[in-house]
Parts: sequence; C-alpha cells; structure tokens
Amino acid sequence: MIVYELACAHEHRFEGWFASAEDYTRQHADTLIRCPVCDDSAIERRPSANVQIGRAAVPAAERADTAVAGGEAEVLKLLRRMIAQTDNVGAAFPEEARKIHYEEAPQRAIRGQATRDEAEALRDEGIDFLSLPSALVRDLQ
Ligand SMILES: [Zn+2]
Repeated sequence: MIVYELACAHEHRFEGWFASAEDYTRQHADTLIRCPVCDDSAIERRPSANVQIGRAAVPAAERADTAVAGGEAEVLKLLRRMIAQTDNVGAAFPEEARKIHYEEAPQRAIRGQATRDEAEALRDEGIDFLSLPSALVRDLQ
C-alpha cells in the first residue's frame, strides 16, 4: 500500500492510496483519480510524498523497499484491520469529527461518509482525515 500526496489544479491537497506505484500510474493515466473536494481529474503528485502505514511515516526514498518488505497483500490486510477497528459513524462523520477535534467527544478513530462540501469545511477548520478508496471499506459498512 502506497500513499501519495496529491493535489488538483485548484491546489486542494489530499492523499491517494494505491496498491503499488504501477497502480497509481494506471489510475492516473485513466483519470480515475479525482479530487475529493472539487472532483477535478487534473491530479499531480507532490514531491513531499510520504508512505504511511498506520502512524509511521516512511521517507519517500524508502517507499519501494517498504512495499516489498511488507508484501502488498499483508499491508492491505493490516490496513483493513485498522480500519475495521475504527468506529463507523456513517453520515454523522462531519459532526463527530468536529466534536472530537473540539474535544466535545472522547478521542477515538472514526470512519464514515462526508459530502464534498462537508469534507472541504472540515479541512478549512484544520480537521485531519483521510479519504479512502471505497474498495478498502466496502465489506466493513
Ligand atoms: Zn480540487
């Protein structure tokens, strides 16, 4: 699993999760990668890209080794297990994320859905979250 830092033509920055570098190249060529904020398909990779597996950030130079060492299937399995441990709050995600951010609710990992406008509002408030490909969470709903 590789996480690239991406940006659209409108400078919305987001992270893209890919099975491999080739997967990114293919999806990019097919314009399957869309900005979660404005749905733009003119996506560029940013040079400061890190690989993140769990909470550990790995410098970009070590990216290839990391993907090979863990085995993509293993990393994917681990990632799905981590996602499964988050609290599924569904459509209440923006509200819950805000409560946690402003310490009105206990700190915990949550997942759920947000509309493009809601996601943009959260980012404007400085609330950190990741947009995940639906393939990763499909079986966990
Ligand atoms: Zn955008």
